[in-house]
Amino acid sequence: MQQYFEVKRGLPRDTLLLFRLGDFFELFFDDAVTASRLLGITLTKRHETPMAGIPAHACDNYVSKLLAAGKKVAICDQAEPAKAGKLVRRQLTRILSPGTTLAANQLDAARNHYLAALALDSRGLHAAWLDLSTGEFRVASDAHIANLLPVLTALDPAELLVVEGDRERWAAAPHEQTNVHALHAFCTGRLVSELPGYHFDLATGAKTVMDTLGVLNLQGFGLAHSHPGLGPAGALVYYATENLCAKPENLRGLQEYRSAQTLLLDPATLRNLEIFSSTRGSREGSLLQAINRTATSAGARLLERWLASPTLDLPAVQRRQALVGEFLTQPTRLAEIHELLGTVRDIPRILGRLQNRLRNPRELGGVRDTLTQIPRLRAVLAGFGAGAQLSRLHAQLHELPTLRQLLNTSLAEELPNDLADGDYIRAGHDPELDRLRSLTTDNKTWLSDLERAEQERTSIRSLKVRFTNNFGYYIEVTKANLHLVPADYIRRQTTVGGERYVTEALKQKEKEIFHAEENAQARELELFNRLVATVLDESVALAQTADALAELDVLAGWGLLAREWDYTRPVIDESEVLEIVEGRHPVVEQVLRSPDAAIPRGASAAFVPNDTLLACDDAQIALITGPNMAGKSTYIRQVALIALMAQIGCWVPAKSCRVGIVDRIFSRVGASDDLARGNSTFMVEMNETANILNNATDRSLIILDEIGRGTSTYDGLSIAWAVVEHLHRGAERGARTLFATHYQELTQLEKYLPRLRNFSVAVKEWNDEIVFVRRVVPGAADRSYGIQVARLAGLPLSVIDRAKTILAKLESDDTTVSLPAPQAKPKKKITIAPADDSQLSLL
Ligand code: ADP
Ligand code: MG
Repeated sequence: MQQYFEVKRGLPRDTLLLFRLGDFFELFFDDAVTASRLLGITLTKRHETPMAGIPAHACDNYVSKLLAAGKKVAICDQAEPAKAGKLVRRQLTRILSPGTTLAANQLDAARNHYLAALALDSRGLHAAWLDLSTGEFRVASDAHIANLLPVLTALDPAELLVVEGDRERWAAAPHEQTNVHALHAFCTGRLVSELPGYHFDLATGAKTVMDTLGVLNLQGFGLAHSHPGLGPAGALVYYATENLCAKPENLRGLQEYRSAQTLLLDPATLRNLEIFSSTRGSREGSLLQAINRTATSAGARLLERWLASPTLDLPAVQRRQALVGEFLTQPTRLAEIHELLGTVRDIPRILGRLQNRLRNPRELGGVRDTLTQIPRLRAVLAGFGAGAQLSRLHAQLHELPTLRQLLNTSLAEELPNDLADGDYIRAGHDPELDRLRSLTTDNKTWLSDLERAEQERTSIRSLKVRFTNNFGYYIEVTKANLHLVPADYIRRQTTVGGERYVTEALKQKEKEIFHAEENAQARELELFNRLVATVLDESVALAQTADALAELDVLAGWGLLAREWDYTRPVIDESEVLEIVEGRHPVVEQVLRSPDAAIPRGASAAFVPNDTLLACDDAQIALITGPNMAGKSTYIRQVALIALMAQIGCWVPAKSCRVGIVDRIFSRVGASDDLARGNSTFMVEMNETANILNNATDRSLIILDEIGRGTSTYDGLSIAWAVVEHLHRGAERGARTLFATHYQELTQLEKYLPRLRNFSVAVKEWNDEIVFVRRVVPGAADRSYGIQVARLAGLPLSVIDRAKTILAKLESDDTTVSLPAPQAKPKKKITIAPADDSQLSLL
């Protein structure tokens, strides 16, 4: 127990310690109570000490569950084989936390897995993030929280590191510091580990980072030593080192993330546009899922990264578009590439594990299987012709023939997941291993020969030579034959059925067998470690190959997508327009065509395309009216999604498309429910709107859906009115904006705001039923058709009839009608002075 307390003392308080005792990992005290609750394992007591144990061979599974429950787990294992009567030395081998785990079964293969560190000071927000499973490592710093928080949200880190007490300070910030509160909200509900402030020190951080990367300065990464992100970066490296119980060995470099080079999508926009998950919280129905045709997990992760921080680097985007185009020229080859990619393994994570001492034979098998496919992939790529964009990727795929050859000749066909299982090195690869193994087999033959010889000598037909872990080799004789046992047998044990014996010769042989097995195992392990070292010698080439594979995968997938859904290559340039001809919503279009799509009454199954034309200095704001269910929300979102797809290099669902580069996309929905976070819906709506008005630039794209809906009609209308005016405020230009609203009154704004255009989603009326045609047409909607929609929804006909009567009376301005509804307001005449001071009658 003394060993236990020593190790436990050195751990952070919230870490569960798994302590190896024989074939079990045991937890003690509070740890045992927690683990038994989370894992459903039995809580026992020894000398009043609560304890709970898990079998060592099933440890991985239990640990995964603890991590999933947001716990950190320290593993204290035996550092030497157990010997009877001697205290085994034990040591902490690693600490597993949600942000630093590496085991394949604890990671989602298709998602990046970040550990992030944050620090806020008078100069702004500083951050660093690290995917330990792949070695991706970045720093960032921005004077404005609003510029950095979006990307952090999109990264969705598994664990955060912050300075002790910072979260309380952020929570207590004055109310008007909404960005600090947003930062606090970002931390809420995530696993946060607090570290003392000195771990975030800038100078120490720079040094720690350089030591770990093995460089003398950071100029090679284009980073100044005074970059404030190096403080959090140092904290990350410190934390990772503590958890691995060794320096992380797979960090390839440090890159700076610059918000000015990235299209920003703030958290509310990510949610509203359903980029990574649908509003119901599943991947199903998200943009990510709709445009993901990758065959590898590394490809899926790259796509996620591209979506989380789309680049503003035009040439880079155009390169990706061109690559998709090249793929499309040869559909057969494209299909072949996609298929071959399906057979490569997750090299970045394999390297991450091998470099960080998490080694098992299958990892090497993964490298072997991947290298086997590279020559085939290169051959197919070569078929696309020289000079093409693809030849750049072709050049990044390294065949590494020597390594491939070595792995093929040394590794067994079928590989165990655990080194202890042995037999992972192929026979014939190493003469010494073969010799040691043959000793073992020879000995086995000797044993069966012995059995036969002893049966003859003693005339005991049932005599058996057997083996158990506790007793080693022995001769078993049943009760009935005990009188035949020769004098040279030495009795070892009595069992129910008979007696167990050994002989001098058997004892001698047992020693030889154990010795030979031990030697063979040691030799095999030595060969394995040498293989790992050889693989790691090529880690730079392997990592580059893996990068190229991931890029090929995303782009080939987009080629397939473009073919399947008839996408077009958008023109992306420095202009200030957004022009889409026959655009479609990438997700809704796919949903509608799926066999189990629920098509509402009065609608057709085919997606109806629509055009868009926005320009900062001309048709800046499109105001879209139309009845509920007409397709307003779908339309404005489709425009934002098409712009976003264009900016990550994907082709788009349209006939033609031109996107003047967009620096931020904002999307807000009126009265979106956020009660879970304790805010009234209206407050959330207004917070989010404030964020747009404060942060949008002329280059931004703004999607507003029913803003103002969360409050009473007059309030809501007035706010919506003022927001539109604000967005239009500049004399010459402003952010391209789509505003969907059910406030008919807003359509009058067209008269006062020269860059505002009215559109409506057309419907037809037929036999008092409404038919949705899904066409966006110029001009304001004539009325809202609420009653017809309510009828489609199945409201009782009596209610529909009554509503019609009331409406008719309201419209005839007959104030003598007694209205039963308590919330009915008397009609008032109100006037508002628009920005240009002319009087406008609203109602
Ligand atoms: P609104 O915002 O005007 O109430 P929505 O955009 O929510 O309407 O659209 C209602 C439904 O109509 C959507 O769920 C979608 O299935 C369908 N829809 C919308 N636009 C189209 C379109 N262009 N083509 C086909 N169906 C559409
Ligand atoms: Mg809507």
